[in-house]
Amino acid sequence: MTDRYAVIGNPISHSKSPLIHGLFAEQTRQDMSYEAIEAPLDGFAATVQRLRTEGYKGCNVTVPFKFEAYAMCDQLSSRAREAKAVNTLIFRDGEILGTNTDGVGLLADIENNLGFKLMWKDALLLGAGGAAAGVLWPLFNAGAGVDIANRTVDKAQALADEFKGAGTVYARSYEELAGRKYDLVINATSSGLSDELPPLPDGLFKPGALAYDMVYGRETPFMAFARRQGAAVVADGLGMLVEQAAEAFCLWRDVRPDTRAVLDKLRK
Ligand code: NDP
Repeated sequence: MTDRYAVIGNPISHSKSPLIHGLFAEQTRQDMSYEAIEAPLDGFAATVQRLRTEGYKGCNVTVPFKFEAYAMCDQLSSRAREAKAVNTLIFRDGEILGTNTDGVGLLADIENNLGFKLMWKDALLLGAGGAAAGVLWPLFNAGAGVDIANRTVDKAQALADEFKGAGTVYARSYEELAGRKYDLVINATSSGLSDELPPLPDGLFKPGALAYDMVYGRETPFMAFARRQGAAVVADGLGMLVEQAAEAFCLWRDVRPDTRAVLDKLRK
């Protein structure tokens, strides 16, 4: 029988996850389906329960439900606990297992696909939502020092406080960024979805810097700003999306897809 999977979000119509998992399944010859499901904003838990009842094997979780997913798991991986957010659920033996593959996905894209080494690098992380929380620990682990800036500064501070002791981390307001320079600036806000640019000062990028927007499939105002400001490499989040999907796929199916082939296909 065909095993069923899905991604749950709101909104979800823009999601490329069904296409990516479809390509993975075709490549690795898995008998599975994967669809996008829009849950009502107050209906995430009910949607998950419905999928379980209908026999789905697992699902991905995206904006704005990653914290809710974290809260409803019976078991959490250490990655999920570090991130306090869950993007991958596995339904097994009557339990919900939760993990977070965003961080490994970002790292795989930055270090393997883009060839940018994080050790000793100064990173600026924009945003303090689920995506930012999911990548903070992996960035520390890879050896980067991280400043977090967010529109709501209290949220950046709360995130920095949680991770104190794990690595060098400071919360900054956007105004406090004036005069600072970074090797890597990651836009983990959803500003690109509404064609907005966080209020960034000039001169943020060190020579050789990488500018990375987690939003994918479009040239965001942040990417245009980074090009104008002389960032050496400017990337969108498609590579991260494919890599985090591969990690989830591997957990569900126990087979690792070739991400490079899928990424090349999607870029075309
Ligand atoms: P959340 O809703 O949890 O957080 C949104 C964040 O964006 C908050 O920090 C919010 O600030 C900030 N923000 C929203 N609009 C603006 C704006 N106009 N200017 C400045 N800051 C803004 O979302 P997630 O953290 O889950 O996701 C963030 C983005 O990352 C999404 O666009 C998502 O699609 C993308 N993403 C991509 C992935 C990939 O694989 N490529 C994986 C995961 C996420 P405040 O706290 O002040 O409201």
